[in-house]
Amino acid sequence: MNKTFELVLKNSLPIRKGQFFKRNIGISNGKIMAITEEELFGDKVIDCKQKMLLPGLIDSHVHLRVPGMSHKEDWAHGTRAALAGGITTVLDMPNTLPPATTRQLLEEKREAVKKEALCNFGLHFGATNDNFAELKRVEGAASVKVFMGSSTGSLLVRSESALKRIFEIAKKKNMVVTVHAEDEEIVQLNTNKIKQENKNHAKYHNEARPAFAERIAIEKALMIQKETGNKIHFLHVSTEEGISVISDAKKQGSGITCEATPHHLFLTEEDTEALGNFGKMNPPLRTREDQKALWKAVNNGTVDCIGTDHAPHTIEEKEKDYFEAPSGVPGLETMLPLLLDAVAKEKLTMARLVEMCCENPARIFSISEKGLILNGFDADLVLVDLAGETIILNELLETKCRWSPFYKWKLKGKIEKVFVSGKEFEKNKKKEALD
Ligand SMILES: [Zn+2]
Repeated sequence: MNKTFELVLKNSLPIRKGQFFKRNIGISNGKIMAITEEELFGDKVIDCKQKMLLPGLIDSHVHLRVPGMSHKEDWAHGTRAALAGGITTVLDMPNTLPPATTRQLLEEKREAVKKEALCNFGLHFGATNDNFAELKRVEGAASVKVFMGSSTGSLLVRSESALKRIFEIAKKKNMVVTVHAEDEEIVQLNTNKIKQENKNHAKYHNEARPAFAERIAIEKALMIQKETGNKIHFLHVSTEEGISVISDAKKQGSGITCEATPHHLFLTEEDTEALGNFGKMNPPLRTREDQKALWKAVNNGTVDCIGTDHAPHTIEEKEKDYFEAPSGVPGLETMLPLLLDAVAKEKLTMARLVEMCCENPARIFSISEKGLILNGFDADLVLVDLAGETIILNELLETKCRWSPFYKWKLKGKIEKVFVSGKEFEKNKKKEALD
């Protein structure tokens, strides 16, 4: 008797240890139940026509703006954007209104977003200068996030003693500390300077928040981490200096990981001339040398994860003058297309892509049964076609803010189908019409 699966992906090329093998995949109850060369029978059978099958991407760095800022993004739009971009799991940041800085606020947020979320999710907890008791009590958070430099929202940890206490508690709880590493005082100093010089344009953002501010914050955090021995994950490392400090520390110490974002990999400060505030984010777009160093770190394994830092704002908010406009760009729908283009152009291997976007985030944030295509793992899968083509068009975006710094970019490679827990994501009709 042949067993029948709920769904069979026939003739797919699942990736395993960087290699592709032709296999039929049997899926039932949201799980991968068979990976075989044998013929499988299913209630539904999809012929994958020998296209590459990747594990669903895990984006450990998103801002879906709930509660308090749902005019920028909400979970219905944000998780559709994730799925459209091949991302089947998101970990959301705590800098909302109010911020997720107590156990109760985190649980309230979980209840609120659960109803809207179309993909898997986890929530980061926010550290403040004095919420140590709450941090000790919190359960089920993806990490504790520390803002060493201010960005959207009010979260900021200023003192070394507070950092040390947070790291100590995290160590005891075996919790990852995720760090936004920009030194607040340097940022303030330089921002005031460019204000006085009336440099009112996003092209000066890299001057306002210089590489030095990133480096000094990373060094400070690493010095404390050396004492406390907790796990530390540096978010959106953007400079040659920052990456080189982290690279050295990784060789000597342990528990150190880091992330790069697509915007720092695919844009530089030169793009701010045309993008204006649509290219304003923290940390800022950097120089070509910084970009080159980041790519090197992506390819030699120094960068562990790529996270979108999806941080949408409305077009009206971005059209304010530079000093007033908020920092952040959307990225959920463009990350995988950009990376597939890099693979097609041999700037990146598919093996590294899957490590950084699937395997490593699952390992770093202890997400079980995800990040690999294995029997018994969740059937979160992305079918891609490297020979296809993607054009980024604002009018087709699912994100509520409906703009992208990569507008009109023409990319090699295409996301064909996305499955979350064995269910196929339905693209919007306009997008389908283009296929
Ligand atoms: Zn962020």
